[in-house]
Amino acid sequence: MSYSNISQMNFELSQEQAQFLDRVDGACRSVRAHEEESYLAEKLNDQVVPAFSKIGMLGCPVSKKYGGLGLDMLTYALAIERIGREGSSLRTFFSVHISIGQLVLQGWASEEQKKQYLPPAARGDSIMAFALTEPAAGSDPASMTTTFAEEGDSYVLKGRKHWIGNGTFAGVMTAYAKDPSTGRVSAFIVERGSPGLRTEEMKNKVGLLTVKNAEVHFDNCRIPKKNLLGKKGQGLSIAYSALIDGRLSVAAGAVGVMEDCLAECTEYAKSREQHGAPLAKKQLVQEHIARMAVDIQSSRWLTYRAAAARQKLHEYVEQLKQEQRGNEGWLDELGRGNKEYSALRAEADMLAAVAKFHASNRSFECASRSVQVFGSAGYRKTARVARHFLDTRATTIYEGANEVLELKIASGVLGDQYAAY
Ligand SMILES: Cc1cc2nc3c(=O)[nH]c(=O)nc-3n(C[C@H](O)[C@H](O)[C@H](O)COP(=O)(O)OP(=O)(O)OC[C@H]3O[C@@H](n4cnc5c(N)ncnc54)[C@H](O)[C@@H]3O)c2cc1C
Repeated sequence: MSYSNISQMNFELSQEQAQFLDRVDGACRSVRAHEEESYLAEKLNDQVVPAFSKIGMLGCPVSKKYGGLGLDMLTYALAIERIGREGSSLRTFFSVHISIGQLVLQGWASEEQKKQYLPPAARGDSIMAFALTEPAAGSDPASMTTTFAEEGDSYVLKGRKHWIGNGTFAGVMTAYAKDPSTGRVSAFIVERGSPGLRTEEMKNKVGLLTVKNAEVHFDNCRIPKKNLLGKKGQGLSIAYSALIDGRLSVAAGAVGVMEDCLAECTEYAKSREQHGAPLAKKQLVQEHIARMAVDIQSSRWLTYRAAAARQKLHEYVEQLKQEQRGNEGWLDELGRGNKEYSALRAEADMLAAVAKFHASNRSFECASRSVQVFGSAGYRKTARVARHFLDTRATTIYEGANEVLELKIASGVLGDQYAAY
């Protein structure tokens, strides 16, 4: 880790950041009532795409060249933090569509693929999904059984993925499949309507009730050869790079959740009286409030630090792409094991894992404390704190279950030869 500029730490928002966050705040408020109704009805909130596309949020960190706003990763994290205050259900839609959706294409797709897929996604005309997990391959994606074969001008995918966020309606998804002859995984861009692609909604979830998760069936699904993403055999590296962005967005969203929990609890504890005084006067209630305030601070700064590392990685990759004049040269350079890229990626990877592990654990505990502060008033899904409690449960599981992240963090410290998985 390099802290060469540590003495120049600046905690002020830039004018551009503040103005953009104001617009995000407005969009969040405009969909709030419908988000609650949709949550209770377990339906997609159909106001989200129109409200957020108006302010450019659907392509926030995507380069202007491909229809996005071209904002940096820290500003994106700040926007996700604000959205997180509305709930992890709303925030998950953005994490999937942007962090493990568009940013994967921005990082790895050819110029032609980026021009084809990113502008409609950034506008919100085509929503994105990320299909990695399978029923028998969760924490260990390398053990996936979805396969691909080459047939003439096509790749033919065979297998099943599950829990795929936005999967019931996404126009485009990245999907990961193995070459049975080499055991190596490749990444593909799969469009809705591809022959042999079928999606089915997964029901009876515990929380995240405005997110639509799908089982995705590749029944000899045929896609054109030009839809290979990156180079053949790079699939796991692509998927793991996507998870850096996914984890960062979970961490940022978790900070927002905790801010909302604290705001809700502060207001409630001041207004609710028991034993002749407001709950806010009771020392044991104050312990909940103090712990939440500490959790917000620790999670927030880990997240911002991770976002800065991710931005540095992004800038290096963009510079390398320019020097190599095009994507192919960059991919070849990676194949040769570029040391600077490896170091920057390892740092971004580690810091995102630390931030996600910490912030998701803390936010689940904050949400649970909030329900406790509200008592029975917090035990109905109509209460924001109840929804945070149900939704944060998933954040310690997805984008790398927290036990697996602990092992990853430990091997980052001890060295790969001590990897425990
Ligand atoms: C709401 C939700 C949304 C999701 N969205 C997506 C999506 O959009 N796209 C996608 O591809 N996937 C998605 N997933 C899948 C998610 O990434 C996986 O659930 C996650 O990777 C864990 O895999 P698993 O559920 O199969 O659990 P398992 O891998 O079976 O793990 C079960 C438990 O064992 C622990 N464990 C596993 N291996 C080890 C080990 N070596 N040492 C110690 N403990 C271990 C885990 O930490 C966990 O606690 C989603 C999941 C959920 C719940």
